[in-house]
Amino acid sequence: MLRKSIALGLLLLFFLLPGCSKQQKEINSSRLTVYASFYPLYDFTKKIGGEHVNVINLVPAGANVHEWEPGPQTVASLLEADLLVVNGLGMEPWLPKLQDTIAADVSIVNTSTGITPLYQNHGHQHVEETRLKIPDPHIWLDPHYALLQAENIAAALIELDPQNKDDYLNNLAAFTQKIEELDRYFLESLQSTKRREFVVTHLAFNYLAERYKLKQMSISGLKPQAEPSAAQMAELVDFIREHNIRYIFQDPFDEGRLSQSLAADVNATILTLNPIASLTQEEEVAGEDYFSLMHKNMELLTKAFQE
Ligand SMILES: [Zn+2]
Repeated sequence: MLRKSIALGLLLLFFLLPGCSKQQKEINSSRLTVYASFYPLYDFTKKIGGEHVNVINLVPAGANVHEWEPGPQTVASLLEADLLVVNGLGMEPWLPKLQDTIAADVSIVNTSTGITPLYQNHGHQHVEETRLKIPDPHIWLDPHYALLQAENIAAALIELDPQNKDDYLNNLAAFTQKIEELDRYFLESLQSTKRREFVVTHLAFNYLAERYKLKQMSISGLKPQAEPSAAQMAELVDFIREHNIRYIFQDPFDEGRLSQSLAADVNATILTLNPIASLTQEEEVAGEDYFSLMHKNMELLTKAFQE
């Protein structure tokens, strides 16, 4: 009798298990499949889409966003997506080639729509001609523009999935509140600092500097691998001495050769300022997100502005 009921139990389990996974699959397939072209867009889309979206970050943790290109397998899986979220302004140099192939099957939202791009680094006197013509893509580092990007994402999700409009709008309201808190924290932190100039290895903080009236000087260009001339390095040394700057901000993906030699020349300390274009594996494991990393960035900037 006992053996019989165990057998029956096993039999039931056998039939119940596939049932469970089928139900799970139905839930999954009712969610939108959304690809985000790199980390902040992935984070924003997850926060706005909530339970209604399955978001995939195209650029894996630890990769250099400025150099990444999708392989054939990624292109094939993109074709299965409902929506592709991009930054625009040159952050996705691979997109124009793909646009014709995927546009018929996949909606694409350009989150920089409505933004006024900056074309040069204000305050850098040796901006090369070629750099002047390249729009700066790092808009997400200005919280106001990050919110505009989230609004563009919300509008795209609502268009694809109007049934869940209220949820998307509620999530956007929560996101807006967090941006407002971040903005207040930035303004309060910067209220009474000794200086507002900072030196970085990767020219990524133009929009942030513009928004909060800071002055950024950069060792390299819009892409971290662009190298400065000897004259630019000499000018940086003068700038650092003139403003009594004690910290140099390095990109987390920068090997640090130039910043180390500059720091040694001017007796400065190296800190890491995060452009949040891609998380390191450690940051991913630690559960960091756009807001926690922006908060850390401002803590470090404030330290450099005070000392
Ligand atoms: Zn960058």
